[in-house]
Amino acid sequence: MLTGVGIMLFTFVAMEGVAWVMHKYVLHGFLWFLHKSHHTRHTHAFELNDLFFAYYGTLAMLFFVFGSDPIDYRFWVGAGITLYGVAYFVIHDVFIHRRIRVFGKTSNVYLKALNMAHKVHHKEQGKHGSESFGMLWVSPRYFRSAYDIVKKKEQEKRGSVHY
Ligand SMILES: [Zn+2]
Ligand SMILES: [Zn+2]
Repeated sequence: MLTGVGIMLFTFVAMEGVAWVMHKYVLHGFLWFLHKSHHTRHTHAFELNDLFFAYYGTLAMLFFVFGSDPIDYRFWVGAGITLYGVAYFVIHDVFIHRRIRVFGKTSNVYLKALNMAHKVHHKEQGKHGSESFGMLWVSPRYFRSAYDIVKKKEQEKRGSVHY
């Protein structure tokens, strides 16, 4: 069980690497025709890019199917992929792109950094020239500027309180 959870967490972390490589070399590569929908402004509820959820969902399901009788490491790999998918969806689709409006503005440095990095990724509407392909881990410079912004806001807040 403990090993299982370890495999699951390892898979979760590894998935960030997989997602980064996929995003940089495949989505902004030969599968750009699917990913393009995500770099174009539109008002549809769904985009072609959402097919990737189906892809990762199917992948996780196969790991569950082949790893559950009896339960072996494949089951936990499937669990790790699923966990990453959920985290990705919550951060990317709900928090950053606000496809479902549940989150307000945040003063959390980590979340702010992720948001900034991904907005920079979206600045570029074409196939080439984008940067910042990661999702749950981004370049430290975003953490630094997010930290500065949060600190500045706090100081402003404090400055406006008079006794
Ligand atoms: Zn992209
Ligand atoms: Zn996005």
